[in-house]
Amino acid sequence: MAERKVLVTGGAGYVGSHAAKALAAAGYLPVVYDDLSVGNEWAVRWGPLERGSILDADRLRQVMEAHAPVAVMNFAALTLVGESVREPGRYYRANVMGALNVIEAARAAGVGAFVFSSTCAIYGQPEVVPISESAPKAPLNAYGSSKLMVETILSDIDAAHGFPHAALRYFNAAGADPDAEIGEFREVETHLIPLVLDAITGRRKPITVFGTDYPSPDGTAVRDYIHVGDLAAAHVTAMERLLGGTPSFAVNLGTGQGYSVREVLDMAEQVTGRAVPHSTGPRRAGDAEALVADAAAARALLGGNLTPRSDLRTIVETAWAWQGSETYGRIFRG
Ligand code: UDP
Repeated sequence: MAERKVLVTGGAGYVGSHAAKALAAAGYLPVVYDDLSVGNEWAVRWGPLERGSILDADRLRQVMEAHAPVAVMNFAALTLVGESVREPGRYYRANVMGALNVIEAARAAGVGAFVFSSTCAIYGQPEVVPISESAPKAPLNAYGSSKLMVETILSDIDAAHGFPHAALRYFNAAGADPDAEIGEFREVETHLIPLVLDAITGRRKPITVFGTDYPSPDGTAVRDYIHVGDLAAAHVTAMERLLGGTPSFAVNLGTGQGYSVREVLDMAEQVTGRAVPHSTGPRRAGDAEALVADAAAARALLGGNLTPRSDLRTIVETAWAWQGSETYGRIFRG
């Protein structure tokens, strides 16, 4: 039987590289399509790298034709909430125009499944927490808006032509590959857990806790952290469901358990046995106060597998082990 290929745009990035590893473990060949603007070549380890931008429709079509993938996973995107508030045009171009190029190339190639990285940021500040998939969509920032637009595009294209797709709405992706082969690394990092651990080791400066006046018990914002390995597994499962004939669907990928920024700092201190150098500051623009998933659909998708890997201790432990790895030390020095 011919090798079953899956085109993974953004497969050199954080979540995309973990999905590539999970695809290889499940017997697929991940073909990574990435311009390496954010992603890293060292993270492409389970299949070929096709260098290219999702803004380059011709190159996408050419790669799609050359590999004839059975499915496409689209991770390539700009993902930083704060940056999207400052540079909305760049976000709409990359995330909406780029995704549309990937969708049209996938459709032209007749792929049987399209898995899209969406986000809980499409809900904005929800009226009801935990957030179910049917909750109102009211993004607070251009990042969330751009992802919601692509969900609409996917639904419309599916209705018109039949285009089996899954929109996976991530809550906070965190943690690292338990083998520490890959993990989270960006030149410009804004995410809480890697910054906290980098602050502990002194690789980066002390962190600022953004906002201590939220209506949570300790005043800091609450997020639902899900292990990147669970996200990767969910992508493979969603793809296989679609390939098996399940109609298009959208699912929240969270655990249903929220943690405040202070609880994350406390867990980092417990896991590492060291203090987190930090100060407190004002809220960050575009941030919601509490984002926690109704995880019933995610649990149904992943079976009983979701919670153990995604508990906060395991998340911080795997991220800490990754930061202690030889690979991380090497790439951080550049
Ligand atoms: N956060 C913080 N200091 C930082 C980075 C993040 O207090 O240096 C907070 C942020 O305001 C949010 C939570 O940590 O409440 C998670 O932020 P992150 O950027 O990791 O993910 P987001 O929820 O924005 O996708």
